[in-house]
Parts: sequence; C-alpha cells; structure tokens
Amino acid sequence: MDDYQAFETLAIHAGEKADQETGALRGPIHMTTTFKLPKFGVKLFDALFMESPDSPFVYTRWNNPTLRSLEVRLAALEGAEECAVFGSGIGAISALALTLLSAGDHLISSDICYAGALELFGVHLPRFGIEVSLVDGSDPDQIQAAIKENTKLVYIETPANPVLKLTDIRAVSQVTKAAGIPLVVDSTFASPVLQQPLALGADYVIHSLTKYINGHGDALGGMIAGSSKEVHRIRKEMLVHLGSALSPFNAWLINRGVNTLPARVKEQSASALKVARFLEGHPSVERVIYPGLESHPQHALAREQMSGFGGMLSFQLKDGLEGAINLAENIKLFQYATSLGHAHSLIFYYPSDLYVDAVPYYSEEQKKTIREWSGDGVFRTSIGLEDPDDLIQDLDQALGAKSIKGKVAPMVYELLKKYAG
Ligand SMILES: *Cc1c(COP(=O)(O)O)cnc(C)c1O
Repeated sequence: MDDYQAFETLAIHAGEKADQETGALRGPIHMTTTFKLPKFGVKLFDALFMESPDSPFVYTRWNNPTLRSLEVRLAALEGAEECAVFGSGIGAISALALTLLSAGDHLISSDICYAGALELFGVHLPRFGIEVSLVDGSDPDQIQAAIKENTKLVYIETPANPVLKLTDIRAVSQVTKAAGIPLVVDSTFASPVLQQPLALGADYVIHSLTKYINGHGDALGGMIAGSSKEVHRIRKEMLVHLGSALSPFNAWLINRGVNTLPARVKEQSASALKVARFLEGHPSVERVIYPGLESHPQHALAREQMSGFGGMLSFQLKDGLEGAINLAENIKLFQYATSLGHAHSLIFYYPSDLYVDAVPYYSEEQKKTIREWSGDGVFRTSIGLEDPDDLIQDLDQALGAKSIKGKVAPMVYELLKKYAG
C-alpha cells in the first residue's frame, strides 16, 4: 500500500485489509458495543487510560474496528497523522470546541458558517463563559484584529454555507501560526477531493461525513483530522464524554461511499459548472454564486486553493419571495430538501430575513455585509449525479412556470410574507 499514494487509490485501499480468517475483501461490520477483555487487564477499565486509538478495543463509544478502518482511510485522504470519527458533523465540532476551550477563553469564528456551528458558538458557548467573536473570515486582517490574549482557537469554513464565500486558508494560517493559535477548517463543502486544508497550513480539518464523503444521504457522521497528539486528546476528553459515537453500521456505509468519492465529486463539479452557466444566462436569475464562475468575487482564490469547484451553488431570483415559492413549487427532479452531497440533486431556499436578520448574534453591520452576498435570499443547490441536461431542463421549466401563488397554502404564504416583509 505504501507505494501507492494517489488520492483515488487511497480512497479505495487505505485502511482496508482482507479478513485473515475468511479472506473477505470488504471488512465486516462489527455490530458490537463491547469487547472481551483480558481478566484483570491493567488500565483498561477507564477511558482516561486509553493510550492511543490503537489501544485494545474495550467499548464502541471509545472505538471499534469498523470505525478504526474508516479513521485510517480518512486520515490518509486528508494527509493527516490521525483522524477521529463522530456520530455527526456537529458532534465533531462540539467535541473539538469543548476540548480546546474553557471558561475565560476566546474563540474567533467566521461569521458565515454552517448554522448549527454558529448557534453553538453564538448562543451556547457564551453560557459556559467562553467569549466568541464572529468576524468576516474572508478578510485575514479581521482575524488578526480580533486576536486577544485569551484567544485559543480560530474556526473557519470554506466554501461557506450557504453563500459559498471563501476564506484564504494559507493567509489565515499565517496569522494564526504567528500568534500560536490553532486553526480549524470545516472543509465539508469542498470534500477532501478538492481542498486539503492541512497542506495549506490548518491544524485541524473537520467534515460532516453525512455529506460528500458518504455521498448517498443515508448515514450521519463527522470527523476531525490533525496531529496524533491533539486528535487523540479530543477523542479521550470529549468524544468519549460527550458521547457522539458513530454507529459501526454507519461507519461501514460511509467507508463504502468513500470508494466512489473522487469520481462522484469530479462529476458533480462538472455538472454544477454547466448548471451555473445556464442559470447565469437565465433572465429570471439575479445572481449565481459558484466559485467556478468568473463572476465569483473570489474566483482567483478558488483556482488557487481548490483543485475543482464542487457541486454546491447558490442563486438569487429577480422576483424575490414570490419567485422563490414559484420555483420551489414547480421543481420536479430536484428534491426540495436540506443537506447536500448526495447522488440526488437537492435545492433549498434560505430567506435572508430568517437566516441573517432574525439571528440574535449578528451585529447590524454584519447583517448588512452578509446581505451583500445573500440578497433577499438564496436557493442553495447541491448538484447530484443525474444528467446535467435533465437538471437544466427541470430548472428551466420551473423558472418559466406560471406563478402558483394561488395554490400555495395561504398560511405558508402569509408566514413567509411576514418574514420577507
Ligand atoms: C451539515 C454540515 C455540518 C453538520 O454536520 P451534521 O453531520 O449534519 O451534524 C457542519 N458543517 C457543514 C459545512 C455542513 O454542511
């Protein structure tokens, strides 16, 4: 194995060994919560004594051979010494935050991130005496300016949900390295196929495995990759104690999904560019935000730090909420659903009044800046593996369909209208 280091090859072979007893090529699913131990085996009865992820298996919340084989594979794909897997992406994010931060510490996070992470940082961490500054992560100077004596962690997401704003990982890592503060990158939208945050200077990379890495919309999972010492510390201190353990069944599904990760993401990137160009030329569309379009304000940065532009794109319509309801009601092939990175194409509307203006932790200035990207609201679109011409045909018919205003349940319409003002 060590002779073959290409990403596509690692996605299929890293961490997998044929079963010694049966020769089975695919590893078994170890659906067990507990493992038989040497009688009076020393030091095994408490997670505090777990010396490494390769310590003997004791209990599945600590580790399990099916989880371990996924961890070894994912570490290889991120070029990391070590990886720990979790029951969900947010399980990974909360374990990382609660290991590295204590009362009196300060966290700097991008102000545009996955909403669950922002709620955790903006609403809950302050309850435990952790100070949080949300800044525009796309500007390294703002991160530099926010650093204080007690800053213990810098957290960014790129491309960021849902407006696909980018952060220059290398530039931010220069700032954090100079200050001796660890840098975390949530790289879920890019997947390890298109972006390698550790090689660009980050200390930790986070993924929601639920998205591209599993790729089929049937299992939740999360991961953190980084140095052996630090990832083991997160496992021992918080994975085990917050309890966000991955199910062995999900680990097996995710491991299976990883085999086709490189092929899926390349296909989805090619289709997304095609769909983005179609939307950009459509008269009902106000703006398309896709890192692969020359019109993306950070297209040059995307070319530099990503090896492709991904399957996620966002767009705004000219006729605001009414147009949005019309599109959502008339779309057929796209599924109106949240989440991303599946074989199915998904579309979901984020009205800015809800996801920007109604949020308690944004300042007025921040709301204004975020609205420059999100307008009245964006359709976040995850391009799947269907034929791109079929996807375009579906968008075209839905955009051209007559308004269905009369057909929308009046209550839903009134509710949305209230928020849209
Ligand atoms: C979905 C998502 C998460 C959270 O992952 P879950 O698996 O749903 O807990 C975190 N970050 C990003 C960018 C995501 O898209």
